[in-house]
Amino acid sequence: MNNYKNQTKLSRFIKNNMALLVIIFCIFAILGVVLVSYLVTDQPDVPVDNNPDVNRPDDNQNVNQNPDEDDNQANQTPEPEPIETFSYPLEFISVGMEHCDGQEIIFVYNSTLNTWRNHKGVDLIAQEGTKVSAMKSGTIVEVGNTYEMGWYVVIDHGDGVVATYASLGEPIVVEGQKVEKGQEIGEVSTSASYEFSQGAHLHLEIEQNGQHVNPIDFIENQPQ
Ligand SMILES: [Zn+2]
Repeated sequence: MNNYKNQTKLSRFIKNNMALLVIIFCIFAILGVVLVSYLVTDQPDVPVDNNPDVNRPDDNQNVNQNPDEDDNQANQTPEPEPIETFSYPLEFISVGMEHCDGQEIIFVYNSTLNTWRNHKGVDLIAQEGTKVSAMKSGTIVEVGNTYEMGWYVVIDHGDGVVATYASLGEPIVVEGQKVEKGQEIGEVSTSASYEFSQGAHLHLEIEQNGQHVNPIDFIENQPQ
């Protein structure tokens, strides 16, 4: 009987407080859902925290990639910008009158004039008609003819270097013309009357910053 009464009291309590029990159940259910969702969302937070760590190496990779690109650019940069050097303007047989530097060589003997005198350039002996080309790209600043030098072409090669190509044949270039390295500017002749006895040759002068230099030394010492 007591058990029956207790069961009756319990069922009455449940019936009378069903709404309260439902509310309590719902509260626990909601708390449970919140707790589970917190735990579930908290777990991804850990990988999310790891993600920045993962992203940091990515950033580092990006940082590494940028230097790689810079390295590539650095490697590519020198390729399109090779240093243009001076080359001999012709294939010559021998050297005639040498350049007078005013120290080791003060005068050279000029067989045409039968005298010792200063020689600002160097005479490169070659067969008549041998093609003469620009030693480097530049601008033709003067084309002329004198009794002493014959037909001559002056090229401003930039960086303070101006070259005079003399004892040429008829001019095939004009003042103001741009020329590329190796471009033909004339041919060897005997037009330099002061040097006629040497035969056909190119009289070549190079001025660097207004000072005459030995053309052979200048060409030979170009950085390769
Ligand atoms: Zn000469």
